[in-house]
Amino acid sequence: MAADLGPKAMFVAGGTDLFPKLKRRQFDVEALIGLEFLDRTVSPDRIGAGATLADIAKHSELQGYAQAAGLVSSPPLRNAGTAGGNLCVDTRCNYYDMTYEWRKAIGYCMKKDGDICLVAPSSPRCWAVSSSDTAPMAIALDATVVLAGPEGEREAPVAALYQDDGIQYMAKKPEEIVTALRLPRVAGSRSAYVKLRRRGSIDFPIAGAAVWVQMDGDTVAACRIALSAVASHPLEVPAAAAFLVGKRLDAETVTAAAELAAKPAKPLDNADLSHFWRKRMVRVVVEQAIAAATGANGSTVKLSTA
Ligand SMILES: Cc1cc2nc3c(=O)[nH]c(=O)nc-3n(C[C@H](O)[C@H](O)[C@H](O)COP(=O)(O)OP(=O)(O)OC[C@H]3O[C@@H](n4cnc5c(N)ncnc54)[C@H](O)[C@@H]3O)c2cc1C
Ligand code: SF4
Repeated sequence: MAADLGPKAMFVAGGTDLFPKLKRRQFDVEALIGLEFLDRTVSPDRIGAGATLADIAKHSELQGYAQAAGLVSSPPLRNAGTAGGNLCVDTRCNYYDMTYEWRKAIGYCMKKDGDICLVAPSSPRCWAVSSSDTAPMAIALDATVVLAGPEGEREAPVAALYQDDGIQYMAKKPEEIVTALRLPRVAGSRSAYVKLRRRGSIDFPIAGAAVWVQMDGDTVAACRIALSAVASHPLEVPAAAAFLVGKRLDAETVTAAAELAAKPAKPLDNADLSHFWRKRMVRVVVEQAIAAATGANGSTVKLSTA
């Protein structure tokens, strides 16, 4: 159906992102293709794409991935929102996530109905922000997705699902469905997700840090760190992770790694709160996620939100 209908159709899973956006006329589609049939099973190494975020959040053995799922939006939305939908959720921007009338009044922008970017008018591209909580965690865990399409099934790293473009943010073929997420099981590894948002009860992330770490005694043997809400795709920060490998996690090392992680984060003035403050807070969420995953000394700055 998706291959036949092309851009006239969209997939819908829980509908928690899609339906509000349809109401605000952010998408023009004639058909919705329901994904009710997707597997909902949750196990330590495989998550069916139809599994709800609420179900995933109950699986504490999934550590950071369960934490990320449990911090998405609000309880009612987590009861309907799915693993697959969270990986494919649209990018966000203050000039785009508005009613049709609001967007019309300011002359629209290039993500929908307009020609220019209202955040960076001289830019040829859209800078809408990747705001999925579980995507950076899945990348830090080195997870893969199973994709099904007219040409059959294939498996790809989660990072390969995305590209750095606020409009064409998914790199998969439009007619492909995410059917499952596979999580590698690495003995002795730990993970954690720390999220900053205005209201801990419902909001999207304005900064988020996903950390996976494998320890050899009190030394870091392997590490991956990925960030949410600081770019048009979930942003992996390999330099910070590489810096930690072979080191003991004293407060100085954690702070230096967090500084390195924050460097490539370039929040723009198109999400909640000031982008200068969001940039400063990236360091804090990274410190806290390293601390949460390893028990190391994290930042003394207290985040007032989740
Ligand atoms: C008030 C509010 C707060 C929110 N807060 C957060 C938040 O804090 N963090 C966050 O990450 N999200 C948040 N969301 C967005 C949304 O609720 C979640 O991202 C949710 O996980 C989306 O899943 P879904 O199943 O409802 O997706 P849907 O709304 O059904 O679909 C979302 C997108 O993914 C596509 N899609 C869905 N499933 C698949 C699949 N299996 N394969 C291919 N494409 C697919 C759809 O075509 C659509 O483009 C919020 C939404 C609202 C309304
Ligand atoms: S970043 Fe620019 S083009 Fe993209 S949604 Fe925002 S205003 Fe529109």
